[in-house]
Amino acid sequence: KPIIAIVGRPNVGKSSLFNRIAGGRIAIVEDMPGVTRDRLYQDAEWQGREFTLVDTGGLDFAEDIITSQIRKQAEMAIAEADAILFVVDARQGITIIDEEVAKTLRRADKPVLLVANKVEHFDKIPYYEFYQLGLGEPIPVSAAEGLNTGDLLDTLVSILPQPEEDPYPPDTIRIAVIGRPNVGKSSMVNAILGEERVIVSNIPGTTRDAIDSPFEQNGKSYVIVDTAGMRRRNRIDVPAERYSVVRALRAVDRSDVVLMVFDATEDIAEQDKKIVGYAHDKGKAIILVMNKWDLIEKDDKTMNKFEKKLKAELAFLPYAPTIFVSALTKQRLPKILELVDFVAEEASKRVATADLNNLIRDAVQATPPPADKHRRLKIFYATQGGVKPPTFILFVNDPELMHFSYQRYLENKIRQTYGFEGTPIRIFLRQREAR
Ligand code: GDP
Repeated sequence: KPIIAIVGRPNVGKSSLFNRIAGGRIAIVEDMPGVTRDRLYQDAEWQGREFTLVDTGGLDFAEDIITSQIRKQAEMAIAEADAILFVVDARQGITIIDEEVAKTLRRADKPVLLVANKVEHFDKIPYYEFYQLGLGEPIPVSAAEGLNTGDLLDTLVSILPQPEEDPYPPDTIRIAVIGRPNVGKSSMVNAILGEERVIVSNIPGTTRDAIDSPFEQNGKSYVIVDTAGMRRRNRIDVPAERYSVVRALRAVDRSDVVLMVFDATEDIAEQDKKIVGYAHDKGKAIILVMNKWDLIEKDDKTMNKFEKKLKAELAFLPYAPTIFVSALTKQRLPKILELVDFVAEEASKRVATADLNNLIRDAVQATPPPADKHRRLKIFYATQGGVKPPTFILFVNDPELMHFSYQRYLENKIRQTYGFEGTPIRIFLRQREAR
């Protein structure tokens, strides 16, 4: 999904525009430790094109640091966004800060739309003076009244990067197989793509056919992404480790389910942790695959021991199931796809709002939320805002009162009842005044 950043100095109407485009739906404040709070994300759609809006504003800067903050904001937008909406206040005319931001944006090689806001009457407000900013034709809108915002969105959609052709059926489950060289990825992929399955022929004219392996089983459609080099026996060895890491990250980006493959005879590497951590951050469903299980001398406790060690090292993945397989003897290999189906379903599951609110209420009664000297955290209302990964929004009196441990407690409560096995869960907090 392309990312559209809204930038501009305070009070030009960024939030109004954001809400107008997002269709008045709630904006989500990310409230995870270590994540910046000054950004609002919202998925929106126009003419069937989906995109994610990011309001980089949301902060009231002290006057003297405005310029540096806004420039930083613009740079962040340039780095992260696919297109930028630069909002100016047409009633105020061009300010020095506008010029500063324009200077930064002109240097970017990202499409920028110049939005002249607060234009309720086209003929009365000289919005065209913003031509001087050197960012093309200013588009006059009134975010507050919804004037001309449709035209703005038409233009926006026309400059978005074209989505890559997706040759796969809509319910296709995309699987990324990651892990260090020699853990057995190729062997595993070759076994999964074995004779008994119909390998769907690749659609010509796409770049993906060279690297993806689509197949069907039991009427379901799958694709193992980025199998380049995996399916051939004598593949060229990947020379630089860095190359394979970047490649793995890209594969994770394009996947629904990540198979993190380990060699049971080797220790877990730092690199594995980083890549699977990335998959976690990206909200992907994850299965831990312990391969070469045939080489391990075992008794009835061995599996347990391995699993404990793995979970201790990957403490951030308590939800990920582990499977012990051998790509060589094919032991438990068919189980992999069963698990893939299962975690993909878990990641798409929705909890009814009433049930969720009952659960939160019970959880709050059992263990009261954290408080500071003055107030206790109050959770007014909860709703599931999305899937893949399951995302929950809690409306609270003050997000600052939340503790990481309490958030984890709530996550555990949700998991106890609804499972969500194999998928990360996200909880966002949103401030709402008590009535
Ligand atoms: P990749 O680099 O992760 O794709 O690993 P490969 O699939 O090329 O496997 C590396 C080596 O491990 C090859 O010699 C495989 O035959 C061997 N191998 C892969 N899976 C297993 C397994 O389950 N058991 C045993 N004993 N060897 C395996």
